[in-house]
Amino acid sequence: MLSLHGGHSGEFCEHASGTLREIIDAAVAAELSAYGVTEHAPRSDDRFLYDPERAKGYEVERLHREFEAYSRESLRLQRQMSGSLEILRGFETEAVPTSSYAESMLALRREHEFDYLVGSVHHVCDIPIDETPQHFREAVAACNGLEPLMERYFRLVEEMIRSVRPEIVGHLDLPKLHAPRGADLCTPRIRRAAEAAIEAARSHSCILDLNTAGWRKGLPEPFPSPWLVRLAAEAGVHFCFGDDSHAPSQVGYGLVRARQYLLDHRVDSITALRLGQGGLERRRVPLEA
Ligand SMILES: [Zn+2]
Ligand SMILES: [Zn+2]
Repeated sequence: MLSLHGGHSGEFCEHASGTLREIIDAAVAAELSAYGVTEHAPRSDDRFLYDPERAKGYEVERLHREFEAYSRESLRLQRQMSGSLEILRGFETEAVPTSSYAESMLALRREHEFDYLVGSVHHVCDIPIDETPQHFREAVAACNGLEPLMERYFRLVEEMIRSVRPEIVGHLDLPKLHAPRGADLCTPRIRRAAEAAIEAARSHSCILDLNTAGWRKGLPEPFPSPWLVRLAAEAGVHFCFGDDSHAPSQVGYGLVRARQYLLDHRVDSITALRLGQGGLERRRVPLEA
């Protein structure tokens, strides 16, 4: 098994715990064949800081410093561990502010020579949608309702894919985390926006993150939902696993269940990334035993 989205650590992320070394040791102990570490990109402006960061006196300058330290430490560990674990070095994008984030994400990738990107959208109307239920409600109000928020979110994912061209698209239906249980998140309008995002993923050869944090955070399913898995699979878009770990104990969480989830929804292989002689390579891995 492998995970290509995760490895957030308390060393470089306020809302994670453990060191990156401890995360990697957990991946070795779990006998994963490859582990992608994808720390959050620094946010661009103090107004995007999360409340716990603000309470601790963070400024974005600190996020930038920590990200540079992450870049160095992930490179050091990638080299040091090359005999025992294939580490892929990446980061998870932010998509705020909407007008200018893409160039800064691409610049971070170039400057630090990351192997790959996980493209994620965590904000709608510049409000974080996965941080707290209260912020999610504020984002819904700012969009004038849940359906417009969902539609807008998928449009942002589509734009992010076209401008950042990430190898992996993170947690495709993230807004469901704090949406009211039982809400219809698959209306015709939402579905059209989701289809456009999936079409962008197909045309840019993105892999979708089958992200087990949905289960870890108490949802009955991972990201994305079965209807999106089916849509993506029918469009020819591939999947890979992500544990979205924010602590050593979360490394590898739910990967066996995720494999069965894909099989249950008629996806019989994943696409893994690996570092070959000529750079990043894709490899089809069958899920059937
Ligand atoms: Zn995080
Ligand atoms: Zn994320």
